[in-house]
Amino acid sequence: MRSKLAFIGLGVMGSPMAINLLQSSYTVVGWNRTPNRPLVEKAAQAGVQIFPTIADAVKDADFIFICVSDVEDVKAVIFGEGGIADNAKSNALIVDFSTIGTTAARDISAQLQPRNLRFMDAPVSGGDIGAQKGTLTIMVGGDKADFDQCLPLLQTMGKKIVYCGTVGNGQAVKLCNQVLCAVHMVALCEAMQVAEQLDLDPNLMIEVCSSGAAGSWALSNLGAKIAESDFAPGFMIKHILKDLRLVQESLADTDINLPGVKLSDRLFKIVQDMGGSEQGTQAMIRAYKESSM
Ligand code: NAP
Repeated sequence: MRSKLAFIGLGVMGSPMAINLLQSSYTVVGWNRTPNRPLVEKAAQAGVQIFPTIADAVKDADFIFICVSDVEDVKAVIFGEGGIADNAKSNALIVDFSTIGTTAARDISAQLQPRNLRFMDAPVSGGDIGAQKGTLTIMVGGDKADFDQCLPLLQTMGKKIVYCGTVGNGQAVKLCNQVLCAVHMVALCEAMQVAEQLDLDPNLMIEVCSSGAAGSWALSNLGAKIAESDFAPGFMIKHILKDLRLVQESLADTDINLPGVKLSDRLFKIVQDMGGSEQGTQAMIRAYKESSM
């Protein structure tokens, strides 16, 4: 019997990741809450068999991958009525790619154990482009034997796949990653503003600075988009705000002070209030250009 793979959540990230999983030569089936989205159609055309319910999608699956939005969404697809927990076969391995923070990942794992279901947190970095190209960074928390078993499948979706230790540790690394992304965006927006004020071609600044000590993924991949006022996502502002909320929640019991996180949170919220919730994170520049801050 060949292993069967199910993918729950075929959005910006999930759809291309499920398509890349087809390279594993296992059968890949999928489910999306809203079935008639273009990205779901794209996955279907590539060969992912789409089922109308979670139960149908997961009942025979040995590995169940999830990529939905927030904590409550992951809990809904796992523990909600007709969800994974009630329908997966015993000992199935559930791998969650969503960014949901350490506490939620550990809670979910603890609730699944008595139901004989295995769980790993495996948040990703690399954006929609990394998901399409199969070059994501995947940071995994969970049992090492589960990680080893799943690694060949993760390798169809990612280039750098790192075992980070116990369940929740993938999420912990991912929260650090999101702090870097959010604060880098402040630096990028401010460099773009300075370039404009000094009458520089922004693309010249991007080209030169990308190759030196100031180079960053944000500068190389999102600088040109800011120059062209291209705010299509990529990674949506509503998702980075979720992640900054998760960072702050996870540190609520500490006295750590993160002024860069607070500033980037405030700037993203200004753009959210302008209706930019579903624009890419590079739309932070709108806070500089269209508000008095
Ligand atoms: P997205 O395009 O908005 O997709 C979200 C997916 O979750 C959709 O399939 C959506 O279904 C589903 N969903 C949301 N709430 C649900 C619920 N309550 N029940 C069932 N399904 C639900 O988002 P994305 O960009 O793929 O992001 C997914 C996750 O990856 C997030 O945790 C995000 O932080 C993380 N991530 C994203 C990026 C990126 O660059 N985009 C990079 C790294 C990590 P519908 O189609 O029905 O709405």
